[in-house]
Amino acid sequence: MITNNILNHRELYRLPWNLSDNAISWLEPTSACNLACDGCYRENVKDSHKPLEEIRREVELFDKLRNADGISIAGGDPLLHPEIVEIVRMIHEMGIKPIVNTNGSTLTMDLLYELKKAGVYGFTFHVDSKQGRPKWKNKNEIELNELRLQYAEMVAQVGNISCAFNSTVYEDTLQDVPELVDWAAKHINIVQVMVFILYRQAVPKLSFDWYAGATKVDMNALVYSDTSARKVDLKSPEVVAEIRKRFSAFTPCAYLNGTERPDHFKWLLTGRVGTKERIYGYVGPKFIEIMQTMHHIGTGKYLAYEKPSLTRKGRSMMLLSPLDKGIRSVAKKYFSSILTNPLRLFKGLHYQSVMIIQPVDFLENGSQSMCDGCPDMTVWNGELVWSCRLEELKHFGCWVRTVPMDGVCNLNAKVNKG
Ligand code: SF4
Repeated sequence: MITNNILNHRELYRLPWNLSDNAISWLEPTSACNLACDGCYRENVKDSHKPLEEIRREVELFDKLRNADGISIAGGDPLLHPEIVEIVRMIHEMGIKPIVNTNGSTLTMDLLYELKKAGVYGFTFHVDSKQGRPKWKNKNEIELNELRLQYAEMVAQVGNISCAFNSTVYEDTLQDVPELVDWAAKHINIVQVMVFILYRQAVPKLSFDWYAGATKVDMNALVYSDTSARKVDLKSPEVVAEIRKRFSAFTPCAYLNGTERPDHFKWLLTGRVGTKERIYGYVGPKFIEIMQTMHHIGTGKYLAYEKPSLTRKGRSMMLLSPLDKGIRSVAKKYFSSILTNPLRLFKGLHYQSVMIIQPVDFLENGSQSMCDGCPDMTVWNGELVWSCRLEELKHFGCWVRTVPMDGVCNLNAKVNKG
């Protein structure tokens, strides 16, 4: 079994994001969606668009409680909200970067230009093979690269908007991850971020009773439960191991730990530098530490999304070579490649992030390990809450606790011993 031992969290940079000072926050203007993705955390509710004034109050609450560089405008699919342009404008005018998280199916060039005018900073497109997309049924992850490219080219055509993709990873699609990593490398000039989110659901094989307060509840009431036997404990190091089968040098540099496990990689970041033809290497922990710190000193905020006008400055990033081993190695490879072919000097050198997200882990002792410094906190009844578990609050009014069926609460018990 592949476990954490291929990565040591003490050798990586712990991202500085926390509850009150974070790179992003998570806004949901609607719970309505035109797709039904496997593994979605949100119940699809027709006509659930929030009025603009309610959305403004939520953004103001974020601003009061949390220093955030950007807001992910998610849902549901936010492009279904009739006032999406106004939502983007409002967030932009408050000095926060609006990032639209969408399945992309209703995006047109006209809407894209309107959103650009309103101040959109970036898009994150959710594209994977278990979304039931009408024109893409039975297409595998690799065939869906054609659709990813369509969205990336649309965004690139408008110009200087960050473009990210996220894809849920299931037991049976894990083997496709390296191909997606390769696809992103080949489009490093127009794709800034690639995100892999590991599939999680409440399934019968989790041997817990579920309690809301003192009441035992039926988790099947929630959208994130499944009655079939599915793997729900894939870990970030397993994805890294899969990627390394093809890209042996693939090296993460930063992470967020679990609330219950310091050595778990809940958000695992890899930064690479290259051209469409070649990846020169991977930045190291110091590089990310300097970028986060400099951005915080310069703007007062931590950083998650950057525009292509910055990510294409791969050559300037090499100024950090004396301080970071990773970027030093990139510089060495890059300049020796220039010596063999000076024309390479005229090609853009780009930075790209690959993020692996490992959501809730159920530990044997009944604890649920969340992302420590969760970037995707949303607003619920005036408070910041985990967006991935919001349905528990909506249905039961509180978080659902997991109680081991065997009644043993062994504090030393660990999830899958991994
Ligand atoms: S705790 Fe949940 S909402 Fe927060 S980042 Fe992790 S998976 Fe996302």
